[in-house]
Amino acid sequence: MSSQRFRCLLVEKSAAGEISLQLTEHSREELPPGDVLIQVRYSSLNYKDALAASGNPAIAKTLPHVPGIDAAGVVLESCDPRFRPGDEVIATGHEFGVERWGGWSERLTSPANWLVPLPRGLSLLDAMTLGTAGFTAAQCVQALLHQGLTSDGGEIVVTGATGGVGSLAVMLLHHLGFPVVAVTGKAERKDWLRSLGADRIEGRDLFTITKPRPLQSALFAGGIDTVGGATLSTLCTMISHRGCVACCGMAGGADLQLTVFPFILRGLTLAGIDSAWCPDAERATIWNRLAGEWRLDQLVEIRRLVSLSELSDCVTQILRGENTGRVVVDFEKS
Ligand code: NDP
Repeated sequence: MSSQRFRCLLVEKSAAGEISLQLTEHSREELPPGDVLIQVRYSSLNYKDALAASGNPAIAKTLPHVPGIDAAGVVLESCDPRFRPGDEVIATGHEFGVERWGGWSERLTSPANWLVPLPRGLSLLDAMTLGTAGFTAAQCVQALLHQGLTSDGGEIVVTGATGGVGSLAVMLLHHLGFPVVAVTGKAERKDWLRSLGADRIEGRDLFTITKPRPLQSALFAGGIDTVGGATLSTLCTMISHRGCVACCGMAGGADLQLTVFPFILRGLTLAGIDSAWCPDAERATIWNRLAGEWRLDQLVEIRRLVSLSELSDCVTQILRGENTGRVVVDFEKS
């Protein structure tokens, strides 16, 4: 490969309509315009990337498409005074890997406003171990704190606990001293969840109730939900007075069936979390927090380093709900 050319993973559709992920080579001129050109060192796999990689038209709106909502790397060129060659930066959310060329590529261009300088205290590898998953988990935790929940106020439940967002939510809550109940469908990962900081483990059947009532017994002070559907609906009926549930995912479904009673009788707050378009100032604050007082020392326990060409198998796994922790793409791994 010439030094001018670089590799990326492209989602393509054949004439017969078959979707495939291909490792392809490109030149600088093919990248979309942007203030900053980045040499990507690490990217990651999020559930949304797997949807893009399988050609889901809600995410990969036009094909061919380069997925990757996350990237971390080094600035090669910049026409914006805020960034200079050699600076280390994080790119997450916005249009990356959705409307725009994403992070599963050795080169990325970006508007300067969408980049966060790598905060002191975080490596590029740690930043991508967190990635959108860690950023989202941190936003969820922040929502619970904003609502006044404290570590001595009762247990916080995390659903989809072995997944990317879930495992990082367990770690962050434990780091901040909250008692954590991890809900998982993977019985074999109980010890791993305990090692991340879960105090109790429950199976997904916690939310399978034959005769659902508008309010169940109040079991938890709050929750972080990555699953949606019946899980979120039931969870909201189990939260104690003035509690809060941060809703960020739909790994198990997008429906929500609720009455108003959790809100008007228990004062429940249902906090919506959107990481892609989090305002710039809040985005920077959260990354600084993740590098500072919320810094997690166990990130090595949850990451799996893969090369670009090894990503396809991981895509299949995450779409089947079988993912644990974080898959990090290392562009120097062959
Ligand atoms: P993962 O696949 O890593 O985690 C999802 C986990 O959910 C799985 O590991 C599994 O955990 C559980 N799960 C999967 N399928 C089901 C099911 N059918 N019923 C119940 N539980 C299930 O994905 P991510 O952590 O990357 O993302 C989680 C969700 O959060 C996704 O829906 C994603 O789109 C969303 N998300 C939203 C963001 C936002 O900005 N709002 C940002 C990032 C992610 P277990 O086996 O332990 O139960």
